[in-house]
Amino acid sequence: MTAAEDLIAAADAHSAHTYRPLPVVVATAEGAWMTDVTGRRYLDLLAGYSALNFGHRHPRLVEAARAQLERVTLTSRAFHHDRFAAFCAELAELCGMEMVLPMNTGAEAVETAVKTARKWGYRVKGVPAEMAKIVVAGGNFHGRTTTIISFSTDPEARADFGPYTPGFEIVPYGDLTAMRAAMTENTVAVLLEPVQGENGVIVPPPGYLPAVRELTRERNVLFVADEIQSGLGRTGRTFACEHEGVAPDVYVLGKALGGGIVPVSAVVSSADVLGVFRPDEHGSTFGGNPLACAVALEVIAMLRTGEFQARAAELGERMHRALAALPGTGTVTAVRGRGLWAGVDVAPGVGTARQVAERLMDRGVLAKDTHRTTVRLAPPLVVSEADLDWGLEQLREVLAG
Ligand code: PLP
Repeated sequence: MTAAEDLIAAADAHSAHTYRPLPVVVATAEGAWMTDVTGRRYLDLLAGYSALNFGHRHPRLVEAARAQLERVTLTSRAFHHDRFAAFCAELAELCGMEMVLPMNTGAEAVETAVKTARKWGYRVKGVPAEMAKIVVAGGNFHGRTTTIISFSTDPEARADFGPYTPGFEIVPYGDLTAMRAAMTENTVAVLLEPVQGENGVIVPPPGYLPAVRELTRERNVLFVADEIQSGLGRTGRTFACEHEGVAPDVYVLGKALGGGIVPVSAVVSSADVLGVFRPDEHGSTFGGNPLACAVALEVIAMLRTGEFQARAAELGERMHRALAALPGTGTVTAVRGRGLWAGVDVAPGVGTARQVAERLMDRGVLAKDTHRTTVRLAPPLVVSEADLDWGLEQLREVLAG
C-alpha cells in the first residue's frame, strides 16, 4: 500500500463512516490549490462547501489569526474580551441589522435561530405556550442536529434518529401557495435557504423570495434566511437574498465567516428579535471567542471592499458561460447556479456524479457530488481565470469520456 492508502485505511479503521471522501489525502493548501501527501497538486473546486470562499490560508486571515494567537484565544462569555464588541457591531452593520448572537458551527446557528424564533413568538407575537410552528422547505439542508434533521426530507439524514422534534411544517421549495396554506396564527417563522446548496444549487423561481418577504410581513412571521452556504460573497453579492432585493428579519451565517480557519457562525437580526434573550437562556463556551472574532473581523473587512463579491460575479459569469454549452453535448441534463456556484446534472449515460468527481480527481481537480446525479462546483473566490478555465476544461473532457 502507498502512504496515502495507509492513511485512508487507518482513517477507515478508527473514524465513524459518516462521509465518503474521495481517496485523496491533503497535506498542504494555498489559495485555490491543495497538495496531497505525495506532492501532487489539485485544483479545489469545492472550497470546503463555501467555508473557503477566500481560498486556503488567505494571508490577511492567517495574519489576523496569528496576531490574535499571540494575545488571547479564549475567555468564555463569563468575561468580556476586547474583540467582541467590534465583531458584533461590524457584522451587524454588514447585514444591515442591529444585533448578533455568535455560535460556532452552522447547525448551532440554525438551532439558535429556531430558539430565537420560538422565543420571539411567545414573548412578542403572543403565541400560546408550546404551539409555535416554523415553516421550512422540502429539500432543505440546515445541518445535522436531531432537531434540524427532524425537518429534513432526506431519508438518509433522518433514518433511525427519531423521535423527531415537532413544530415544523414542510412545504415545497418555491411554492408560495403551499407556504400560505401552511401558515396559521401560531407560525413564528419561515426558515429558508435563498439558494438550496446541498440540494444541488437550486435557485428558487424569480419573485419567490420577495413574495415570501411580503407574506411573512403581512402575517407577522419572521423571515429567517439561512445564508450559511449562499452568503458572504459566493453568489456575487454579500447575501444571496440581495439578488431579489430582499432583506430578511434574521440572517443565519457560518462557514466563510470563519475564513476557513476557525468555526464561526452567528444569528444576526434586529434588537426587537434578538433582544428577547435574557442571561442564562442561551449560550456557547466557544461562541464569540477572541480568535473567532479576530478572524471574522478580517473576513468582514475583506467583504466590505466588495472585491470578493465582484470577483464571484465576474468569474461566475465566465463559469456559467462555459457550463451553458454542456447540455448541448448530451453529457449534462441541466446546469443551475448563481455567481461562482453551480450544480451540474450529469446525464445517465455518463455515470454517476461520484464517478465524475473521481475522474476529475484523476486529472487533478477536486469537486464533489451531491445526491447521485449532481456535481457541485464552488471554487474559492480567489481562483484565477486561467485555473478556473483549466478546471472547467477537465470537466468537459471527463464528461465527454
Ligand atoms: N445550513 C446550510 C445552508 C448549510 O449548507 C450547512 C452545511 O452545509 C449548514 C447549515 C450546517 O453547517 P455546519 O456543517 O457548519 O453545521
